[in-house]
Amino acid sequence: MVAIAAALQACRNRISHACKEAGRSADCASLVAVSKTFPADSIRIAHAAGQRIFGESYVQEALPKLEQLADLPLEWHFIGPLQSNKTRQIATHFNWVHSIANEKIAQRLSDQRPAGMPPLQVCIQINISGEASKSGVGADAAMALAGAIVGLPNLRLRGFMAIPEPGHDIGLQRSRFRRVAELLQVARKSLGPAGQHLDTLSMGMSDDLEAAILEGATLVRVGTAIFGVRPVIDDPKKHQQELSA
Ligand SMILES: *Cc1c(COP(=O)(O)O)cnc(C)c1O
Repeated sequence: MVAIAAALQACRNRISHACKEAGRSADCASLVAVSKTFPADSIRIAHAAGQRIFGESYVQEALPKLEQLADLPLEWHFIGPLQSNKTRQIATHFNWVHSIANEKIAQRLSDQRPAGMPPLQVCIQINISGEASKSGVGADAAMALAGAIVGLPNLRLRGFMAIPEPGHDIGLQRSRFRRVAELLQVARKSLGPAGQHLDTLSMGMSDDLEAAILEGATLVRVGTAIFGVRPVIDDPKKHQQELSA
């Protein structure tokens, strides 16, 4: 319990330190606490320690937790891979989606966003290191997709998300993040007034949040450094059953 609160504080210190080092304001990047694989109780503890924004990657695992925590004023970000058959649940229960990588999914999320809810805040996931295994779109496709998303009534395009290849070369990490920041500038220019809400760079995780903040990250997504090392999940459904057992 103390562990999560202390880890959160340490993480906030890292963020404000990096913001200062970048010459940005101390609160330049908001923290998305990535709670995937951890139970609702851990999220409750983090909330009691002042955390409001949480990220989840697996719909089946997330929904029961969202329900258990419905009494708290939390903001939920979906950061995982998107499948067509899960878009309705995401559009209904989440505030943000970081991982949009094609127009069909964007269209479905817009169509399925319930009437009366504010627009779903979305980022396009950019594949910056060109790795075949990573999801996300290349630079050209991202521009085309951005143009399509700003025309969808129930989505609000906020920017780009990226996950560089793992590694400890801070120079390489920074160059990857810099490329995403440049792409955001290009998109803002090319979209003109339609791009007015593009203010978000979702980049940086437990191991590379400093590099990301130095290159302009406005949302960092941190799991391990807050909740600890995750169990490997082969089967999200089975994992959920174990969590609720
Ligand atoms: C799991 C996950 C994170 C958190 O990663 P850590 O290294 O544990 O901080 C961030 N972003 C995405 C998209 C993730 O899936």
